[in-house]
Amino acid sequence: MFLSGADAPPLLSHTQVPARVTETYILSGYRFPNYSARQCLLSALRPTNETGNFWTHFLPVFVFAYHFAEVLGWEAAPPGHAPFFYPLWTYFLGVVGLLAASSLAHLLNSMSLVVREVCFFLDYGTISAYTVGSSLAYYYYIHPRAAAPGAPGGGALLEALYVPGSCGVALVCVLCCCNTRQRWRRHRYLIRTLVFLLPFLVASAPVFYRLLAPSPYRPASPSFASSAAAAGYFYRHCAWLAASAVFNIGKIPERLAPGRFDVWGHSHQWFHCCTFLSILDELHMIKAEVRAILLQPALAPSAGAAAAAAAAASAGPTALSTYGVMLALQATIASVIGWFSWRAERIYGAERDRLAQRRWRPEGHKCH
Ligand SMILES: [Zn+2]
Repeated sequence: MFLSGADAPPLLSHTQVPARVTETYILSGYRFPNYSARQCLLSALRPTNETGNFWTHFLPVFVFAYHFAEVLGWEAAPPGHAPFFYPLWTYFLGVVGLLAASSLAHLLNSMSLVVREVCFFLDYGTISAYTVGSSLAYYYYIHPRAAAPGAPGGGALLEALYVPGSCGVALVCVLCCCNTRQRWRRHRYLIRTLVFLLPFLVASAPVFYRLLAPSPYRPASPSFASSAAAAGYFYRHCAWLAASAVFNIGKIPERLAPGRFDVWGHSHQWFHCCTFLSILDELHMIKAEVRAILLQPALAPSAGAAAAAAAAASAGPTALSTYGVMLALQATIASVIGWFSWRAERIYGAERDRLAQRRWRPEGHKCH
């Protein structure tokens, strides 16, 4: 319907494609790894075994942006370009980068064996950058002193280590996940899931502290109520993450009926849905805490006061401590990805060139 014959090579079974591109319990719906970029993009409109993976992270970009934009219209909020919102924008960039890179990685990965590797390295890199975007938002909005400058924190040393620690853990995750594509293949899904548990535990430290310590807001105040609602969102965020791990490791439901969920309903699509719902609840949690800061009576008369409170809290967000941190992290992740991509070229380059000779032809001369 959307593709002419030349643009629509037939979909293949798991025995007709290189073992490298097959997924456990997925038996059909494969694209051969020699598509052009145009064929890859158009395949978003064909029922292949990657179509659902693309849409389950592409459509959420718009849902997330819709819920995010609400904050900027709040009555007591400073202008969107104010330093108060820098951490929220870095979080936004982290989430949108993750969703966009993930959806495009699933769409473009059949350009070649090497491009496939690079696509998934980028996917892991953006997941790690997202965890640091979360950490920055947590640090500036959920940190107890973001709410009340005099509130006790978690100790000067721990606070000083929090953001650098999150960046370090993010880099370890990229290294480990990229490595599972070249070594440690047997337990790759388990390793990838576990290494992303570590940044969750590190990044969530301010939330754990807030759950255990008394609220920094005056009881019965609007800020207290808004901040209290954040706990429920956090528990749901954790529940969605746990569900996503079950799908990713368990390969449910395709494990129960191999071949039946090849195109629609296989575990990776449910994994994407659960990770997005966890991000959405995380956004609601951050919004509840941002609202609590903005609703403080001392801050309400002036929009700029919110930024001042945050500044008093923890040295305040600056372009360097938010965008600068993200940029430095991205540059480091890019060099890690560059190194693994160079290795992938050495490992898969020859096979890619061999497969390129075996292009599908419309008259029925298929790859074999
Ligand atoms: Zn994915």
